Order: sequence, then C-alpha cells, then structure tokens
Amino acid sequence: MYSVHPLPAFKDNYIWVIQQDQDPRCWVVDPGDAAPVRAYLDATQRQLEGILITHHHPDHIGGVAALSAAYSCAVIGSAADQARLPPLTQAVQQGDRFQLLDWQVEVLAVPGHTDHHLAFSCTDQQGQQHIFCGDTLFAAGCGRLFEGTAQQMYQSLQALAAFPDATLYYPAHEYTLANLNFACKVEPSSFALQQRLAQCMALRAAQRPTLPTSREQEAATNPYWRLNQPEVQASISQFVAQQGEPQPETPAAWLHFLRLWKNAS
Ligand SMILES: [Zn+2]
Repeated sequence: MYSVHPLPAFKDNYIWVIQQDQDPRCWVVDPGDAAPVRAYLDATQRQLEGILITHHHPDHIGGVAALSAAYSCAVIGSAADQARLPPLTQAVQQGDRFQLLDWQVEVLAVPGHTDHHLAFSCTDQQGQQHIFCGDTLFAAGCGRLFEGTAQQMYQSLQALAAFPDATLYYPAHEYTLANLNFACKVEPSSFALQQRLAQCMALRAAQRPTLPTSREQEAATNPYWRLNQPEVQASISQFVAQQGEPQPETPAAWLHFLRLWKNAS
C-alpha cells in the first residue's frame, strides 16, 4: 500500500512524503526545509530516492541542495525554470511522464502563481490519482498571482479540475480555514461550505491537517472552481461595483476580481 503524508514545515507549509509499505524508498515534494525531512528519514530508516519541485519559491526549494548532497537523490523540476532552481537531475515540462516508485507520473504546466509552476499528477497501482499542486490550487482557494495572469490561473485551475471526482490534491500550505472563511463570504448560503468549515475547524483544533482534498470536495466548495455560480458572481459583482470597476465578462475576469477581493480581505 502507498501512503502520502505531510511533514509540517515553517508556519504552514507541508512537505509531502510519498512511500509504500515494505519498501525503504521514499520521495518528497517541495522540501523548503531539509530538517523535517532528515528527522523523518532518521526516525523511519527510509532512503530518500527523489525530490519533486513544483516552483522556485524559497519555502519550496530551501532544503533541496542539502538533501540532494546528503542523499544523492533525484531532483525533478521545471526545464523552463532551471535558472531559478537548484541543480536538477531531470528537467521536465508539460506532458512528460516518468515513474516514481511504482507510480506513473504526468507533468502538468500550471502557470499563474509563477510562470513555470508545475503540478505532478500521479496514478497509483489501484488507479487512484494524486496531484501535487504546490501553490496553484489550495483547499477552497488558489495561489496568489505573482507572475502569471488571471487567464493563466483560470486555465491552470481548469486543467487541475479535469480529473475524476475521487482525485486527491496535495497543496503545499495549510490555508484551508482562511480560505473557507473567505469562501463563506462569497457563497453565504452554501450548506456544503458551512459543513466543511465545521469539519476543518475540528481537524485543526486536533492539530490534524485538512489535506489532501478531493475533486468532489473542491467542486462543491472552492469558489475558483465555481465562477459560473449565480451566488458567486453576485458577490464578486458587489465587490467590483465597490471598486468602481466595469463588471467582469469572462471567467478569467471573475477570477481576477475574486482573487483581488481575497487579497484585500
Ligand atoms: Zn509559492
């Protein structure tokens, strides 16, 4: 059996560990800090076989050089972003495929948060999909638009949505409560949001992660995947009117204002 689990890092990052039973090898995603990974490897006697990098921000790559030097592991990241990444053993781009333990991995280009942000879509032996999406999709939210356009982020989020309902997503931050509180302002009549907020508050109170999340759950509660819903549009419209801006006419424009509203809230 496979398992994926989070190593907390910094204030609210997760470094995801991918491993399987009866196999000493493991992989990590976005080790911004080497210390929690070293501690985990020491405690479990596992070997670090490789590192996946979603994007160049320091809280995602800060531990890569130390770990790759100590464990001589594979380091996989964006071919287009190599100038900003630690040395890679494998540079990849949209559509590339490779094997990770017994998982099949497909690379998705998901620009928006950064220009060359990648997501890694992994299919396990049972056909279950696991997507490591970095800072592009969060539970009930999406990443800030640091380098890309709203149109790019919209397309990236659509690409991440094009998977079966049972697909699991592994974002790199525990932002869920803040995102759900904001989503409740966007869709105040949503029972699904109220329910999810209560569940996630209980998880956080017990110091447990609210992640991974599923496609089904995000489709029901993530406002960035619900831009065509009348209540979502009505709420964004109100914010846009307060800003004295013209009303949005495209999905990307709705997303642009929703993200601005979140930044301002
Ligand atoms: Zn980032």
